[in-house]
Amino acid sequence: MKDNWFEISARKIWKQAKRKQRKKKRKNRRRGQKKSRVPQRYKVYIRGRYWTERKHRYFSAHAKRCAVCRTTQNVALHHLVYGNYGAERDEDLIPLCGRHHSIFHALHGVARNMKETTAEYVYSAAFEEEADRALRAIGTR
Ligand SMILES: [Zn+2]
Ligand SMILES: [Zn+2]
Repeated sequence: MKDNWFEISARKIWKQAKRKQRKKKRKNRRRGQKKSRVPQRYKVYIRGRYWTERKHRYFSAHAKRCAVCRTTQNVALHHLVYGNYGAERDEDLIPLCGRHHSIFHALHGVARNMKETTAEYVYSAAFEEEADRALRAIGTR
């Protein structure tokens, strides 16, 4: 009877310990999933594989050309809207070459929503670029 009582309580304790372990494992698994989610901090996101994949998807549907000067060299993908990383809509992204990308940010900095500033910039910069080309073609520049 005494042995039996001991056995029963030992099993109980063991079962409890096991349950605790399983709980811990589940918690860790959840934590792991959280870690593997798309980082929402821009600086982290922009260096990670989710952005690489997103860029790849964008350029498989759109030409890899600067929206301003049409070059295919050193083309970056600019965010018109920040946030929602990993699930950006195509219309919230626009390809810009290194030069036009840095000119844009030098002029306008960074804001959460840059739709209008980007549209205006691309429009006027492309116009200037075109005028430049025309002037060079007739030899005045
Ligand atoms: Zn350009
Ligand atoms: Zn940008």
